[in-house]
Amino acid sequence: MTRRLAEEGQKPKIMVIACSDSRVDPAILFNADPGEIFVVRNVAALVPPYSPDSSHHGTSSAIEFAVKDLGVQEIIVLGHYKCGGVAAMRSIHAGNQLEDREFIGPWMALAAEACSMHGADDPEAAAAVEMATIKTSIRNLKTFPWVQKGIDNGTLRVHGWWFDINSGNLLAHDPRTGQFSIVDSIPDLSAK
Ligand SMILES: [Zn+2]
Repeated sequence: MTRRLAEEGQKPKIMVIACSDSRVDPAILFNADPGEIFVVRNVAALVPPYSPDSSHHGTSSAIEFAVKDLGVQEIIVLGHYKCGGVAAMRSIHAGNQLEDREFIGPWMALAAEACSMHGADDPEAAAAVEMATIKTSIRNLKTFPWVQKGIDNGTLRVHGWWFDINSGNLLAHDPRTGQFSIVDSIPDLSAK
């Protein structure tokens, strides 16, 4: 398997944008083998808006490679319950200062809108903010013109999933209703 992948190159058809959290490894969660899913992980699975400039765009570079070079057919934004990045964002939104932290605040500001929609002070709202953050990432994905073009052509589909690390349930975003609902079983993204 590994030698064949080395010789022939990777041809994954699925990209997963996931959180760095150690509890939500997409390959383990979705039973994928090497070569089967192209993954970028960052704090809170955020996608920044399309903004080509001289800044260092790690996530956007991965999206560009996945779409333009690999020709992935699916992009899954995978958020999760008890996301530390979202918790930090909610804390900042509630007026707290994060001591001695230089990067997390500006990074999570990408999803600040999710906080303002779901009361930062309400502990019950954490999951709602996590799901709203996924929707923000999906919206930002569509600002990449070649992502939107793929969606329009029917060659690319974008999904929002939220994994409940407490219950083990996976909830999928329904673009028609804007709601997340439980899927029957965790999808197996193995090509076999
Ligand atoms: Zn997280």
